[in-house]
Amino acid sequence: MKALDELTFDNRFARLGDAFSTHILPEPLDEPRLVVASNAAMALLDLDPTVAETPVFAELFSGHKLWAEAEPRAMVYSGHQFGGYTPQLGDGRGLLLGEVYNEAGEHWDLHLKGAGMTPYSRMGDGRAVLRSSIREFLASEALHALGIPSSRALCVIGSSTPVWREKQERGAMVLRLAPSHIRFGHFEYFYYTKKPEQQAELAEHVLSLHYPECKEQPEPYLAMFREIVERNAEMIAKWQAYGFCHGVMNTDNMSILGITFDFGPFAFLDDFDAHFICNHSDHEGRYSFSNQVPIGQWNLSALAQALTPFISVDALKEALGLYLPLYQAHYLDLMRRRLGLTTAEDDDQKLVERLLKLMQNSGVDYTLFFRRLGDESAALAVAKLRDDFVDLAGFDAWAELYTARVARDGDDTEEQRRGRMHAVNPLYILRNYLAQNAIAAAESGDYSEVRRLHEVLSKPFEEQAGMEQYAQRPPDWGKHLEISCSS
Ligand code: AMP
Ligand code: MG
Repeated sequence: MKALDELTFDNRFARLGDAFSTHILPEPLDEPRLVVASNAAMALLDLDPTVAETPVFAELFSGHKLWAEAEPRAMVYSGHQFGGYTPQLGDGRGLLLGEVYNEAGEHWDLHLKGAGMTPYSRMGDGRAVLRSSIREFLASEALHALGIPSSRALCVIGSSTPVWREKQERGAMVLRLAPSHIRFGHFEYFYYTKKPEQQAELAEHVLSLHYPECKEQPEPYLAMFREIVERNAEMIAKWQAYGFCHGVMNTDNMSILGITFDFGPFAFLDDFDAHFICNHSDHEGRYSFSNQVPIGQWNLSALAQALTPFISVDALKEALGLYLPLYQAHYLDLMRRRLGLTTAEDDDQKLVERLLKLMQNSGVDYTLFFRRLGDESAALAVAKLRDDFVDLAGFDAWAELYTARVARDGDDTEEQRRGRMHAVNPLYILRNYLAQNAIAAAESGDYSEVRRLHEVLSKPFEEQAGMEQYAQRPPDWGKHLEISCSS
């Protein structure tokens, strides 16, 4: 276990120099205070969790203090936003403080979001508000606990600094951790600004540090791109299987590591709705729940375009062709597991599709349905769940297929099957209304609800005593909360 001043830095991205990022110091927030910290994320840095309660912790992650070895930099990148190319974006309100490596030899970027203006702030104020910082913190750690690859969050620090959005709010900072903050948009930036030398340097940096195993392949860059395609297919399959809607799948928000990243107005589905749009500003539904699958491919094509200096177009196309079949295989595998199946049959895809259609038509809670399906024997569970459906004949027909399918599947005991199902079907999910309750309390100075919610969501598959209220469908007011892009 380390104390705060014992972190070891090795700022590899900063060393790429000024073409890649700009040195700039964080602008401190007034009266910093700890809102919430993640012990699991602290462990990634070998930090003793008790240091989160010390004043110096809040000072470090609100811009008041800095390690001597840190080297804060705002990264430059660009990206396709809602389908259109924006030539220059970059860290407008976040800074890469430095790269820390832990005792296991893993590197973690420390990225402080809400750290003030940078050369890339454009019209923005460089700040993040408490509300959005709490949402990012909770989602990062909840996604990880669900087994969905994601950037992590160490803490949220609140303050008394006023920040204007639709109304006056308070500034906050969230400390984000990821093995790298390089986005698809980094490659696009150097490609479209026609800087081949820097682009080659960036490609070499990513290959050597993040895909070293690809260096052994005959075509290392192609192997790396294939791996990126594969990781994205798997990540998006997990989003779809667990009902996660990212909200802003612009290429500047897509990580080169295939981890969930920079999610703004995200949501987990309450009722199943394939057409759900979580971002209030996404009028066309470009990033609707079911569109995430083709958009994943669209984004990879945008990255492929930026990699044409290194890889032949034919090879890129072939690699892109892997995306959909891989996505489908991962998705079906996860859905089989959610249904408690261990074997594969040709009609399983249809079984899943029929169920989702029924859920869609009846507005059935996506998370609780699967959890309850694993509470009893298949026959008893479907009998109990039947009341949630409007199309009873349709559900009965599905239930008959399902119970017969379960009967044909493997020969483990009923109890084993239920255990397997509960291990993949969460009881607790980060519902928008739960986040909203925690935010409302935090905005009035009470952080206990954010902390409790974070705790509950860190063990989403385990039933926790006295936490029934976190495993409920949303109340009426919490069903259709509008989450704007402003954050
Ligand atoms: P996002 O939608 O959060 O992914 O941000 C898109 C771009 O806008 C990025 O370059 C951000 O750094 C920048 N940005 C977002 N909010 C602000 C803000 N309040 N101040 C400065 N830049 C911002
Ligand atoms: Mg972004």
